[in-house]
Amino acid sequence: MPFVDLKTQYQALKPQILKRIDDVLEHGQYIMGPEVRQLEERLEAYSGARHCISCASGTEALLMSLMALGVGPGDEVITTPFTFAATAEMIVLIGAKPVFVDIEPDTCNIDVAQIEAKITSRTRAIMPVSLYGQVADMDEINAIAARYGNIPVIEDAAQSFGADYKGRKSCNLSTFGCTSFFPSKPLGCYGDGGAIFTNDDALAQVCREIRVHGQSRRYVHTRVGLGGRMDTLQCAIVLAKLERFEWEIGRRLEIGALYNATLESFGIPFVRQRLDRNSVFAQYTVFVDDREAVQGRLKSEGIPSAVHYPIPLNLQPAYAHLCRPDGMPNATEAAKRVMSLPMHADLPAEEVGRIASALSRAIAG
Ligand SMILES: *Cc1c(COP(=O)(O)O)cnc(C)c1O
Repeated sequence: MPFVDLKTQYQALKPQILKRIDDVLEHGQYIMGPEVRQLEERLEAYSGARHCISCASGTEALLMSLMALGVGPGDEVITTPFTFAATAEMIVLIGAKPVFVDIEPDTCNIDVAQIEAKITSRTRAIMPVSLYGQVADMDEINAIAARYGNIPVIEDAAQSFGADYKGRKSCNLSTFGCTSFFPSKPLGCYGDGGAIFTNDDALAQVCREIRVHGQSRRYVHTRVGLGGRMDTLQCAIVLAKLERFEWEIGRRLEIGALYNATLESFGIPFVRQRLDRNSVFAQYTVFVDDREAVQGRLKSEGIPSAVHYPIPLNLQPAYAHLCRPDGMPNATEAAKRVMSLPMHADLPAEEVGRIASALSRAIAG
């Protein structure tokens, strides 16, 4: 049993993917070829955002957003410690300081009730993460940001592309939305890729320039940028994968609901979803004690599991100096107990019951 099944997906889309790849090899525009803009247009229509700027990775999307906002030394960016390192890493890389706000214990997303206390005159952005595919409390975050002089909000939507939030789409909920097309994300390519979304025309133009070394025209470097483009081939692959994406999202929702109901019947706690939004379940995550033993027992029954994330950023060597060791109790506790189960669009419904009962036995010892 695979944790994420990209092989079945490939078999289902093989003719479309090979055709798209062949088209690129034939036209030969490997950098910024026609598929790049074609993908951006499709994603603009899908998300509802005015602008999509594809880029080299999700990490690069976060970095370029921060660059476009002019965040730099002396600035603070509010974010969560319970995320993949890239979120805080790009804030540090640009010279600013990540200011951690603890998470809600049931959703593992940033706790909005604790944000205001962390805002200072140096706060230049708020960067929530829509963890495990579930959008953070973006309306409340935007309202707080507006009250404090329109602080820009960047949604780290690397795990949530395709997720609904009160009838709107993840990535189109704030100043910037940043996603990733890393192969195992809900919408993935076959290498690295990512995208920035915004409704701000000026910021979109700045991002487009940053992506090509700050050029506003060929060899006119208006600003400092970087080489942040997404390969034409990877854009072509995402275009092919979009043909099955809505079906995949539907399957993810079904499997997630089935996991919820089955685990509930076994009394196993899991990451909760709010009723006003749909998770795309980049991960389906439960809470267990004695995690290593549970993972070992699952493995002996042929069931893979993973941990996102075993050490919160507030306890990582590179970031621990940013807050007190006991400053993030919920993130610290979640990191000890979270465990993700197999989740992908091709997971047969019958397997959910088998995984849940194996998990129940594994927890019992
Ligand atoms: C995957 C991920 C990233 C980084 O995306 P890449 O495309 O791998 O650079 C950033 N933030 C979060 C929350 C992620 O899950």
